[in-house]
Amino acid sequence: MRAAVMIGPDRPLEVRELSPRPLRPTDVRLRIEASGICRSDSTIRRQGMGGLSPVILGHEGAGSVLEVGTGVHDLRPGDRVIGAFQPACGDCWHCARGRTQFCERMIEIAMRAHWTDAGGAKTWSMSGLGTFAEEAVVDRISVVPVESDLPSEQLALVGCAAMTGVGAVLNTAEVEPGSSVAVVGCGGVGQFIVQGARIAGASRIIAVDPQAGKRAAALVGGATDVVDPGTCDPLDAVRDLTDGRGVDYAFEAVASGPALVQAYGMARNAGTVVAVGMPAAGTQVTFDGFQLFSTEKRLVGCYYGSGQVRRDFPRLVNLAEAGLLDLGAVVTRRIGLDEVNDAFDALDDGAVIRSVIVPGAAPVDAGPVGRP
Ligand SMILES: [Zn+2]
Ligand SMILES: [Zn+2]
Repeated sequence: MRAAVMIGPDRPLEVRELSPRPLRPTDVRLRIEASGICRSDSTIRRQGMGGLSPVILGHEGAGSVLEVGTGVHDLRPGDRVIGAFQPACGDCWHCARGRTQFCERMIEIAMRAHWTDAGGAKTWSMSGLGTFAEEAVVDRISVVPVESDLPSEQLALVGCAAMTGVGAVLNTAEVEPGSSVAVVGCGGVGQFIVQGARIAGASRIIAVDPQAGKRAAALVGGATDVVDPGTCDPLDAVRDLTDGRGVDYAFEAVASGPALVQAYGMARNAGTVVAVGMPAAGTQVTFDGFQLFSTEKRLVGCYYGSGQVRRDFPRLVNLAEAGLLDLGAVVTRRIGLDEVNDAFDALDDGAVIRSVIVPGAAPVDAGPVGRP
């Protein structure tokens, strides 16, 4: 099968032909039908993955089961599944406490090499998934089966962007009906924060992004106001929209220190600031300690939307099937595996909200607004 492989930091991915190693008892071999390209893939492509290489990138994918190991009894060939980039074993200390996003088997899962290249060398898979590929071999605890007729390119987004964005609102922040929300950065995750805030019943949803197309998409997704930080001071704009107090909840979805400081400034006294984007390792963020003390703002991290994937993936699929969550609106470009490096460039220059790799499909581009 073919896969897009990271061969070292800051180098283009290489599409290679790979062969599976024998399945372990708990392994599941999947046909990957769609895989979204996330900012985190771009970050890992730049900084590498802890010295590990070569690695098949991609952590947001959906597909169907091709084959299962001898110890997997609850999945059958043909079943539809969504990959979870954080496994959920259900038994470890964190899983037992309802915090599967910190499942302690993560490292063990990510360190397994399931593929070999033409020369017989091992190839690893990002987060134990490696979805920039025609197939993936994953552990049973890294996939969630779903019964749905939604297209795979929509189901793929449940695996990262939708879980992260909607989860940040419903799980991490627990946004209350009638509250005010600001979203700094309206890429894939930011669009789902906007939609999540709408689902939660927020009455004011302020979307902040320098790209006109992303602001327009946010309005379609449920934003009540948009702010272009290129033409005004976004802190002033948010205060003007909230009687000078700031918002109840401010979400950062850019994955940068300055964006987090900006979101922090947008929250009202005792408001909640949620760090949703994954910054590069080593990113330092500085706050005024007196301000933190005197404003009682709550600054909280948000890993994977605090997602409990076995509960939340089916919940997100149900929301989408009920027409409350629009997964398709966030897919703005469909590409083949060979266009993966171009898709990183498009992500960097803001030309897309989400590119999705559909192996074998003809590329279609709708720009930052609309469906391909
Ligand atoms: Zn992601
Ligand atoms: Zn666990």
